Amino acid sequence: MRVLLVEDDRMVGSALEQALKDAAYAVDWVTDGGMALSALATQPYELVVLDLGLPRTDGLQVLERLRGRGDSTPVLIVTARDAVQSRVAGLDLGADDYLVKPFESTELLARLRALSRRHGGSALPLLGNGALSLDPATKVASLGEKSARLSPREFALLQALLQRPGTVLSRAELEERIYGWGEEVESNTVEFLIHSLRRKLGAEAIRNVRGMGWYVDRAT
Ligand code: CA
Repeated sequence: MRVLLVEDDRMVGSALEQALKDAAYAVDWVTDGGMALSALATQPYELVVLDLGLPRTDGLQVLERLRGRGDSTPVLIVTARDAVQSRVAGLDLGADDYLVKPFESTELLARLRALSRRHGGSALPLLGNGALSLDPATKVASLGEKSARLSPREFALLQALLQRPGTVLSRAELEERIYGWGEEVESNTVEFLIHSLRRKLGAEAIRNVRGMGWYVDRAT
């Protein structure tokens, strides 16, 4: 799942980037509002973490322009403790949730999971297709009798497939969900992760269409 992190504070930004990566998100981190808007115009994101206090184009302007062009990507805003008015303004401009600094990364991650559930149209925490299920909080996947905790990248890959059961995703589409900007894409990673997921969950967990990509079965 790809997240755009917009934060001008280097220390806070790098801590958040790491926490998000550890939780299996592909993260692109930008440090001002202009960069955020161009990233959002060129790349699909599933979530945006938006600091409001940014140089030049601030977070509220980013949000206003984003919603103004019809982009409904879920946005979680991050504000200072005393900035009640900008929090209210942010929610009124179409932010989906907010956090007050300082906050624990565990709370940020839980709120992002909740946001992506709501955006996906389901309040249920589990992702699944009826047979295969995946818990985003614990990273445990189950199929029949088999159950296994997944590595961050295994999780990211299986999550991408389970968000669109029955749809074949190519290697490039899967890589896009696993890697953030500037991360080196290793050539056999996708095959390696598929192999390892099948070993943990059974070969039938992930189907292959030769030369096209991979998919999980649609719900039955
Ligand atoms: Ca800031």
